[in-house]
Amino acid sequence: MGYNIAGLVVNKNFDRNVQQLATALRWGIEIIDEITFEQATANWLPEGEFRLYFSDKATMIFFPHEWSVEGYHVQGAKSLCYAYSATAMVFVVDYLDENGTARYFMENEGKKSLENGAPLPYEQQFPTASGLIFKLFDELLGESFHAINFADKAYRCRKIAYKEKDNAPYKNALFTETVAKEEKKAQTFQEEPKITRLFVKRAGVDILADLELTLEECYKGVTKNLLYSRKKQCTACNNPKNCSTCSGKGYVLEEHTEAVNFPAGIDDEMTIKIKNKGNWFPAKHSIWTYWKIKLQKTAPTYGDLVLAISLRKHKHFQRNGQNLICEYTLPKVEVMARDVVIQLADLDKNTLKIKIPQGTENGKVFQIKGKGFRNIKDNKVGNLLIIIKLI
Ligand SMILES: [Zn+2]
Repeated sequence: MGYNIAGLVVNKNFDRNVQQLATALRWGIEIIDEITFEQATANWLPEGEFRLYFSDKATMIFFPHEWSVEGYHVQGAKSLCYAYSATAMVFVVDYLDENGTARYFMENEGKKSLENGAPLPYEQQFPTASGLIFKLFDELLGESFHAINFADKAYRCRKIAYKEKDNAPYKNALFTETVAKEEKKAQTFQEEPKITRLFVKRAGVDILADLELTLEECYKGVTKNLLYSRKKQCTACNNPKNCSTCSGKGYVLEEHTEAVNFPAGIDDEMTIKIKNKGNWFPAKHSIWTYWKIKLQKTAPTYGDLVLAISLRKHKHFQRNGQNLICEYTLPKVEVMARDVVIQLADLDKNTLKIKIPQGTENGKVFQIKGKGFRNIKDNKVGNLLIIIKLI
């Protein structure tokens, strides 16, 4: 039997700290037990499990073959997500360097397909995926894969739900009545852009893209027209060999606009998957069809559009879970002397008036119920917390 492995190699070892690795990958990692490197590299892995090995300079993860569809990478590092099946003669090379330059292809019985990105320097020397994958192992490991001691310590692990890290502490923001007024004026004039061009990080069968949303958009929900280019099946193909529209490729590149609705409460680090809005791929493409059928129980001809959501920083507000937080700075002498009414513009562009009683202490939190974010899962709404800073 040939060698059949799949996994991820990263040119960093995260100080051999599983937690650091988990944060970089956004995986929840549970260690089941300790094994040897030899056991970690075994052929075919049981579903749901992966094996982990830290070398002096790098990290190797061995996982089930179908995981290679996910295109796991670590930002700011060099990484190779791959599938290597000598039995099926199917290989996946999915390489991303620290600058975000990507190289992707699948090789099926010696034939490359679904190619993306410029060929890597090693590809001339190693024209087939089986040689290239091992060459990339060596590059990312900083040593020969074959030189690793079989008795070295490794881990048998399970992937579990990833717990998002707590938001960073809130930074002080001066928010006076004048600022509130200006803010409201600015918001009235700020038109929502009609079309948002997606920043595509990687386009294999699935198209992965980053999308930044404003706090207001997360608060109220928003529909955006997303523009990106994708491979669409050629409709002129009666005889693919002689098709002048696609030159026999079977697809054409089109600028596609997709209206996507982001519900109120959508949060940082969420992933939105829009089915069948990725790149076209031929249904006869055996390994993809095999994996996708296995995963989805159907045979699609398009990959998915996958959006990684991030939150744009707001001048005055910060999100903490379902709560909206704001710091309001007041002169201490004034609060000592009398009641003070403060005004601030909330995310609905309404001006809120809040009475700060005489003698209020520094750091006191005033809570306005129902002015926070909606929880997508249970529809509960958080609160607006105003933290009084006395200077
Ligand atoms: Zn065609």
